[in-house]
Amino acid sequence: MRLRKKPGVREAMANYPKLVPQDAEQYKGKWREFFGNNNPIHVELGTGKGNFITTLAEQNPHINYFGVELHEEVLIKAVKKAEEKGLANIAFLWINIRELESYFAPAEVDRFYLNFSDPWPKKRHAKRRLTHNDFLKQYKKLLKAEGCIQLKTDNEGLFEYSLNRFAEELFLLKEITFDLHNSEYAEGNIMTEYEAKFVQKGMKIFRCIAAHPA
Ligand code: SAM
Repeated sequence: MRLRKKPGVREAMANYPKLVPQDAEQYKGKWREFFGNNNPIHVELGTGKGNFITTLAEQNPHINYFGVELHEEVLIKAVKKAEEKGLANIAFLWINIRELESYFAPAEVDRFYLNFSDPWPKKRHAKRRLTHNDFLKQYKKLLKAEGCIQLKTDNEGLFEYSLNRFAEELFLLKEITFDLHNSEYAEGNIMTEYEAKFVQKGMKIFRCIAAHPA
Protein backbone atom coordinates (compact mmCIF):
# COMPACT_ATOMS: atom_id res chain seq x y z
CA MET A 1 0.00 0.00 0.00
CA ARG A 2 1.32 3.43 -0.93
CA LEU A 3 0.85 6.00 1.79
CA ARG A 4 0.00 9.54 0.84
CA LYS A 5 2.47 12.05 2.24
CA LYS A 6 0.59 14.52 4.38
CA PRO A 7 2.18 17.97 4.39
CA GLY A 8 3.51 19.03 7.75
CA VAL A 9 3.90 15.56 9.29
CA ARG A 10 7.68 15.94 9.57
CA GLU A 11 7.25 19.30 11.24
CA ALA A 12 4.57 17.89 13.56
CA MET A 13 6.97 15.18 14.78
CA ALA A 14 9.40 17.88 15.95
CA ASN A 15 6.68 19.10 18.33
CA TYR A 16 7.12 15.97 20.48
CA PRO A 17 10.84 15.94 21.42
CA LYS A 18 10.20 13.92 24.62
CA LEU A 19 8.40 11.22 22.64
CA VAL A 20 10.46 11.33 19.44
CA PRO A 21 14.01 12.18 20.53
CA GLN A 22 15.70 14.01 17.65
CA ASP A 23 19.20 12.98 18.74
CA ALA A 24 18.29 9.38 19.57
CA GLU A 25 21.63 7.84 18.52
CA GLN A 26 23.40 9.58 21.40
CA TYR A 27 21.38 7.48 23.86
CA LYS A 28 22.65 4.15 22.51
CA GLY A 29 23.64 2.16 25.60
CA LYS A 30 22.37 5.01 27.81
CA TRP A 31 18.59 4.95 27.54
CA ARG A 32 18.43 4.87 31.35
CA GLU A 33 19.61 8.51 31.22
CA PHE A 34 16.81 9.44 28.83
CA PHE A 35 14.11 7.81 30.98
CA GLY A 36 15.81 8.62 34.31
CA ASN A 37 15.54 5.02 35.53
CA ASN A 38 16.96 1.56 35.00
CA ASN A 39 13.68 -0.13 34.02
CA PRO A 40 13.53 -2.93 31.42
CA ILE A 41 13.30 -1.97 27.75
CA HIS A 42 10.65 -3.46 25.43
CA VAL A 43 10.65 -2.54 21.74
CA GLU A 44 7.92 -3.00 19.14
CA LEU A 45 9.30 -3.25 15.61
CA GLY A 46 6.98 -1.77 12.98
CA THR A 47 4.65 -0.19 15.49
CA GLY A 48 2.18 1.35 13.01
CA LYS A 49 -0.50 3.46 14.67
CA GLY A 50 0.64 2.39 18.14
CA ASN A 51 -2.41 0.97 19.94
CA PHE A 52 -0.45 -2.05 21.19
CA ILE A 53 2.62 -0.28 22.54
CA THR A 54 0.81 2.71 24.07
CA THR A 55 -1.65 0.39 25.87
CA LEU A 56 1.23 -1.68 27.24
CA ALA A 57 3.02 1.48 28.38
CA GLU A 58 -0.13 2.63 30.16
CA GLN A 59 -0.53 -0.73 31.91
CA ASN A 60 3.15 -1.15 32.88
CA PRO A 61 4.69 2.10 34.14
CA HIS A 62 7.83 0.24 35.31
CA ILE A 63 8.81 -0.83 31.81
CA ASN A 64 10.23 1.55 29.20
CA TYR A 65 8.74 1.06 25.74
CA PHE A 66 9.84 1.95 22.24
CA GLY A 67 7.83 2.02 19.05
CA VAL A 68 10.03 1.75 15.95
CA GLU A 69 8.44 2.83 12.70
CA LEU A 70 9.67 4.01 9.32
CA HIS A 71 6.55 5.76 8.01
CA GLU A 72 5.83 9.10 9.54
CA GLU A 73 2.18 9.14 8.43
CA VAL A 74 1.34 6.27 10.81
CA LEU A 75 3.97 7.05 13.43
CA ILE A 76 2.51 10.47 14.13
CA LYS A 77 -0.76 8.76 15.11
CA ALA A 78 1.10 6.56 17.63
CA VAL A 79 2.92 9.60 19.01
CA LYS A 80 -0.35 11.47 19.48
CA LYS A 81 -1.85 8.47 21.31
CA ALA A 82 1.09 8.50 23.75
CA GLU A 83 0.75 12.25 24.22
CA GLU A 84 -2.99 12.00 24.92
CA LYS A 85 -2.35 9.26 27.49
CA GLY A 86 0.36 11.40 29.13
CA LEU A 87 2.92 8.59 28.97
CA ALA A 88 6.45 9.19 30.30
CA ASN A 89 7.71 5.61 29.75
CA ILE A 90 7.64 5.48 25.96
CA ALA A 91 9.70 6.82 23.08
CA PHE A 92 9.45 6.42 19.33
CA LEU A 93 12.26 5.88 16.87
CA TRP A 94 11.47 7.12 13.37
CA ILE A 95 13.96 4.84 11.67
CA ASN A 96 14.43 1.76 9.54
CA ILE A 97 14.70 -1.40 11.66
CA ARG A 98 17.85 -2.23 9.67
CA GLU A 99 19.55 0.60 11.61
CA LEU A 100 18.62 -0.70 15.06
CA GLU A 101 22.23 -1.26 16.10
CA SER A 102 22.88 2.49 15.85
CA TYR A 103 20.26 3.05 18.57
CA PHE A 104 20.67 0.16 21.02
CA ALA A 105 23.83 -1.34 22.51
CA PRO A 106 24.39 -5.09 22.77
CA ALA A 107 22.22 -6.63 25.53
CA GLU A 108 20.32 -3.37 26.14
CA VAL A 109 16.87 -4.71 25.15
CA ASP A 110 14.74 -7.07 27.24
CA ARG A 111 12.04 -7.85 24.70
CA PHE A 112 11.15 -7.28 21.06
CA TYR A 113 7.61 -7.42 19.70
CA LEU A 114 6.93 -8.20 16.04
CA ASN A 115 3.26 -7.63 15.31
CA PHE A 116 1.76 -8.36 11.89
CA SER A 117 4.96 -7.64 10.02
CA ASP A 118 4.65 -7.40 6.25
CA PRO A 119 4.83 -11.01 4.94
CA TRP A 120 6.74 -10.27 1.70
CA PRO A 121 5.47 -13.56 0.17
CA LYS A 122 7.70 -13.50 -2.94
CA LYS A 123 10.88 -15.53 -2.48
CA ARG A 124 13.03 -12.78 -3.99
CA HIS A 125 11.81 -10.44 -1.21
CA ALA A 126 12.67 -12.85 1.64
CA LYS A 127 15.48 -10.58 2.88
CA ARG A 128 12.88 -7.91 3.66
CA ARG A 129 10.98 -10.14 6.10
CA LEU A 130 11.64 -8.93 9.64
CA THR A 131 12.38 -12.51 10.70
CA HIS A 132 15.01 -13.08 8.01
CA ASN A 133 18.22 -14.45 9.56
CA ASP A 134 19.98 -11.10 9.06
CA PHE A 135 17.34 -9.38 11.24
CA LEU A 136 17.29 -12.21 13.82
CA LYS A 137 21.08 -11.99 14.24
CA GLN A 138 20.70 -8.28 14.93
CA TYR A 139 17.91 -8.79 17.50
CA LYS A 140 19.92 -11.57 19.17
CA LYS A 141 22.87 -9.24 19.66
CA LEU A 142 20.72 -6.45 21.16
CA LEU A 143 18.72 -8.73 23.49
CA LYS A 144 19.74 -9.53 27.03
CA ALA A 145 20.58 -13.21 27.65
CA GLU A 146 17.19 -13.70 29.34
CA GLY A 147 15.37 -11.67 26.67
CA CYS A 148 12.86 -12.81 24.07
CA ILE A 149 10.94 -11.92 20.91
CA GLN A 150 7.14 -12.16 20.82
CA LEU A 151 5.66 -12.56 17.35
CA LYS A 152 2.02 -12.31 16.22
CA THR A 153 0.81 -12.66 12.65
CA ASP A 154 -2.26 -13.56 10.61
CA ASN A 155 -0.05 -15.01 7.88
CA GLU A 156 0.56 -18.75 8.12
CA GLY A 157 3.37 -18.65 5.58
CA LEU A 158 5.26 -15.97 7.50
CA PHE A 159 4.62 -17.82 10.76
CA GLU A 160 6.07 -21.09 9.45
CA TYR A 161 9.00 -19.23 7.88
CA SER A 162 9.66 -17.40 11.16
CA LEU A 163 9.54 -20.56 13.31
CA ASN A 164 12.15 -22.11 11.03
CA ARG A 165 14.42 -19.05 11.08
CA PHE A 166 14.14 -18.78 14.90
CA ALA A 167 15.14 -22.44 15.16
CA GLU A 168 18.09 -21.89 12.77
CA GLU A 169 19.31 -19.03 14.98
CA LEU A 170 18.90 -21.31 18.04
CA PHE A 171 16.15 -19.30 19.71
CA LEU A 172 14.06 -21.46 22.08
CA LEU A 173 10.47 -21.55 20.88
CA LYS A 174 7.63 -21.58 23.38
CA GLU A 175 3.97 -20.69 23.87
CA ILE A 176 3.24 -21.44 20.21
CA THR A 177 -0.41 -21.13 19.20
CA PHE A 178 -2.14 -21.30 15.83
CA ASP A 179 -5.27 -19.62 17.19
CA LEU A 180 -4.34 -17.04 19.80
CA HIS A 181 -7.86 -15.81 20.51
CA ASN A 182 -9.07 -19.33 21.33
CA SER A 183 -5.98 -20.31 23.31
CA GLU A 184 -4.80 -20.17 26.91
CA TYR A 185 -2.77 -17.07 25.93
CA ALA A 186 -5.82 -15.01 24.94
CA GLU A 187 -6.25 -13.44 28.37
CA GLY A 188 -4.51 -10.10 28.61
CA ASN A 189 -3.74 -10.04 24.87
CA ILE A 190 -3.59 -6.48 23.56
CA MET A 191 -4.75 -6.13 19.98
CA THR A 192 -2.92 -4.09 17.39
CA GLU A 193 -4.80 -2.12 14.73
CA TYR A 194 -4.15 -4.84 12.12
CA GLU A 195 -5.10 -7.60 14.55
CA ALA A 196 -8.48 -6.00 15.27
CA LYS A 197 -9.25 -5.96 11.53
CA PHE A 198 -8.22 -9.59 11.03
CA VAL A 199 -10.15 -10.79 14.07
CA GLN A 200 -13.25 -8.95 12.86
CA LYS A 201 -12.97 -10.92 9.60
CA GLY A 202 -12.85 -14.18 11.61
CA MET A 203 -9.20 -14.88 10.81
CA LYS A 204 -6.97 -16.89 13.14
CA ILE A 205 -3.94 -15.26 14.76
CA PHE A 206 -0.64 -17.12 15.07
CA ARG A 207 1.67 -16.29 17.93
CA CYS A 208 4.89 -17.54 19.51
CA ILE A 209 7.67 -16.52 21.85
CA ALA A 210 11.31 -17.02 20.86
CA ALA A 211 13.64 -16.90 23.85
CA HIS A 212 17.29 -15.87 23.48
CA PRO A 213 19.48 -18.94 23.11
CA ALA A 214 21.96 -17.92 25.82
N1 SAM B 1 2.27 -3.54 14.07
C1 SAM B 1 1.18 -2.76 13.51
C2 SAM B 1 -0.13 -3.49 13.65
O1 SAM B 1 -0.11 -4.71 13.90
O2 SAM B 1 -1.19 -2.85 13.55
C3 SAM B 1 1.46 -2.40 12.03
C4 SAM B 1 1.55 -3.57 11.08
S1 SAM B 1 1.95 -3.06 9.42
C5 SAM B 1 1.52 -4.43 8.45
C6 SAM B 1 3.72 -3.15 9.42
C7 SAM B 1 4.39 -1.87 9.88
O3 SAM B 1 5.79 -2.08 9.94
C8 SAM B 1 4.14 -0.70 8.94
O4 SAM B 1 3.69 0.42 9.68
C9 SAM B 1 5.51 -0.45 8.31
O5 SAM B 1 5.74 0.91 7.99
C10 SAM B 1 6.45 -0.94 9.40
N2 SAM B 1 7.75 -1.39 8.86
C11 SAM B 1 7.95 -2.36 7.94
N3 SAM B 1 9.25 -2.51 7.69
C12 SAM B 1 9.91 -1.62 8.48
C13 SAM B 1 11.27 -1.29 8.65
N4 SAM B 1 12.24 -1.94 7.97
N5 SAM B 1 11.59 -0.33 9.54
C14 SAM B 1 10.61 0.33 10.25
N6 SAM B 1 9.29 0.05 10.11
C15 SAM B 1 8.94 -0.90 9.24
